[in-house]
Amino acid sequence: MPELPEVETVRRTLKNFIIGKEITEIRVHYDKIVSGNTDTFVTALTGQTILDIDRVGKYLVFILDQDAFISHLRMEGKYNIVDASKPLSKHEHLTFVLSDGTELRYQDTRKFGRLALVNKESYRQDLPLCKLGPEPWDADPKAIYARIHQSNLPIKTLLLDQTIMTGIGNIYANEICFTLKINPTTPGKRVSKKRVVELIAVSKEILAQAIVQGGTTIHSFDANGITGLFQMQLQVHLQKVCPVCNGAVIKKMVRGRGTYYCPTCQKKKG
Ligand SMILES: [Zn+2]
Repeated sequence: MPELPEVETVRRTLKNFIIGKEITEIRVHYDKIVSGNTDTFVTALTGQTILDIDRVGKYLVFILDQDAFISHLRMEGKYNIVDASKPLSKHEHLTFVLSDGTELRYQDTRKFGRLALVNKESYRQDLPLCKLGPEPWDADPKAIYARIHQSNLPIKTLLLDQTIMTGIGNIYANEICFTLKINPTTPGKRVSKKRVVELIAVSKEILAQAIVQGGTTIHSFDANGITGLFQMQLQVHLQKVCPVCNGAVIKKMVRGRGTYYCPTCQKKKG
């Protein structure tokens, strides 16, 4: 699943290819890929020029002359930019025909991703984006502590709750707990104010590192389309040996999500 750094890499890469181009036609090949009314989506956006791409959490926001639309890649979504003559693949569900003879196509093997028309002026205040908590860069430690402290849920699970902070997915939640040397099953109410401040700092650091690595790894579109995925140097996620103590990394399910941690470096307290 693309996480915030991958989505940011997709945003930056796409900007190089589509800014300033007009959408001359929209073809929807799989109706449900648009949430809301498909005809309204197509009618509203056809003829508009793409001015910018914003990102809120893991949502891409395409800003046009009059309107905007959001796109969440979910599990497998990605964008292809192809010459209009290239045959449609069976996993491409929506085509934006652009004024320069290229096409921006949304591809999604699992069909979980969604695009939706939103208000250009107020999308941050409207659903669904208004439900998202701040990104770690904008997080107020007091507010985050208040949310974490009132919960009995594991800290790892709370890191994944996009209404507390947005942008942290399963991979980086594992990495953040490892860097903090905190056991991922520690209940939120047992995490101190000082640790929450550290948690926000580490989240910022790890996501920023990943964005830098993504930006340097991906230079252009390849044949597989732009997913933003890249080889990030991971410390604990999918690892077998702890890079700090050389002990065995354990994998267990925490609230349904694969959780990797070092039982020595991330001892459960109390
Ligand atoms: Zn260790």
